[in-house]
Amino acid sequence: MRSLVILGATGSIGCNTLDVVAMHPQLYQVLGLTGATQVEKLFSQIQQFNPRYAVMTDAQAAHQLRQLVKEAGLPTEVWSGAQALCDLAAHPDADIVMAAIVGAAGLLPTLAAVEQGKTVLLANKEALVMSGELFINKVQQHGATLLPIDSEHNAIFQCLPAQLQQNTATQKLADFGISKLLLTGSGGPFLRKALSEFAHITPAQAVAHPNWVMGQKISVDSATMMNKGLEFIEARWLFNCAADDIQVVIHPQSIIHSMVQYTDGSVLAQLGQPDMRTPIAHALAYPQRIQTNVKPLNFFELADFSFSKPEPERYPNLYLAIAACGYGQGATTALNAANEIAVAAFLAGQISFTDIARLNQAALGRFATVKAPDLESILDLDQQARAYVHDQLKKVS
Ligand code: NDP
Ligand code: MG
Repeated sequence: MRSLVILGATGSIGCNTLDVVAMHPQLYQVLGLTGATQVEKLFSQIQQFNPRYAVMTDAQAAHQLRQLVKEAGLPTEVWSGAQALCDLAAHPDADIVMAAIVGAAGLLPTLAAVEQGKTVLLANKEALVMSGELFINKVQQHGATLLPIDSEHNAIFQCLPAQLQQNTATQKLADFGISKLLLTGSGGPFLRKALSEFAHITPAQAVAHPNWVMGQKISVDSATMMNKGLEFIEARWLFNCAADDIQVVIHPQSIIHSMVQYTDGSVLAQLGQPDMRTPIAHALAYPQRIQTNVKPLNFFELADFSFSKPEPERYPNLYLAIAACGYGQGATTALNAANEIAVAAFLAGQISFTDIARLNQAALGRFATVKAPDLESILDLDQQARAYVHDQLKKVS
């Protein structure tokens, strides 16, 4: 029986994780769950999984949850505040921590789990994008086990030799005969939309992903392909490779979740339904396999597979992220922060879809060469980039 903490339990990844856990009560025990705003949802998860701890970051929301828990006569302790997320992630009784908070808010709790040498299931890609080398160094230093949840990185991981899986962050891909990581992406809902219509794209259109059901922020990131850009940076750190070792390939059917090309001409791919329960179950059970409710692939029902190169005019955010990856830590931290603010402004109806890339580009231009070698400077730069974009927003709107 392994004990599990889910950071971001009320989100899309959190709910999918609980769905897998519910199928295997003999394998996993829920120690703690966290949410930010969705009190009712967290309460119903508490009723079902009976965790020892729950965290609502917001004090008011925590107060409401505490009342509900008390009235229901449940034993769950409810904590609040950002520090409580770190305390729960670092709890001595936690074996596995699912890092599924969205955005930079997930960085410190995820690092807290890493620093206690936990098995960390990483969905929160922004944490790694922000802190790259520092994050990976901490994983090594504290003997944590890092398993990717992002479907592409999980696919790549599954296509690596077992010996390389033992430590992907420090060994060299070339030593295992690997020549390229092929990162696939669907191209999102606007793969074939006329570029002239992009300025009029609404938030509702942008969050309607053709293949995946996800949280709002990552859905917008998928539409701009910033998501693939963040994944490019994520792959660079998870698999210890250079930008030249990664190729982004558009595959609109989202059945091949990514591939690894070997020097002998072989390409290994991981395939499956676009359903996050597969990578979640893989990482939860690794190196075993457990059952999920995911429908098996039926090759006789699949549409033809197609592949293309992402067009720079359609996906400027992807190319900004690849450029940031080349500049280094400061650039990726600033771009991630800028994008969070820009996406939130777009979702709030303050700016247009095409303004997202404009703001991201401005922030990258401003901060690309800033050095951010330690946690303090990373957090400081994150704040500076957010403030910069807020200033720019006043000029746009
Ligand atoms: P959601 O928006 O659905 O969920 C986000 C979770 O984080 C919720 O539990 C939310 O709480 C919590 N949260 C939000 N803001 C804060 C904050 N400031 N402090 C603490 N908790 C907070 O996102 P997803 O589940 O879609 O994504 C989570 C992460 O996983 C992201 O980094 C995303 O990129 C990554 N990912 C997601 C995939 C997917 O299929 N959804 C696929 C691959 C990666 P509440 O809801 O209570 O407000
Ligand atoms: Mg992904």
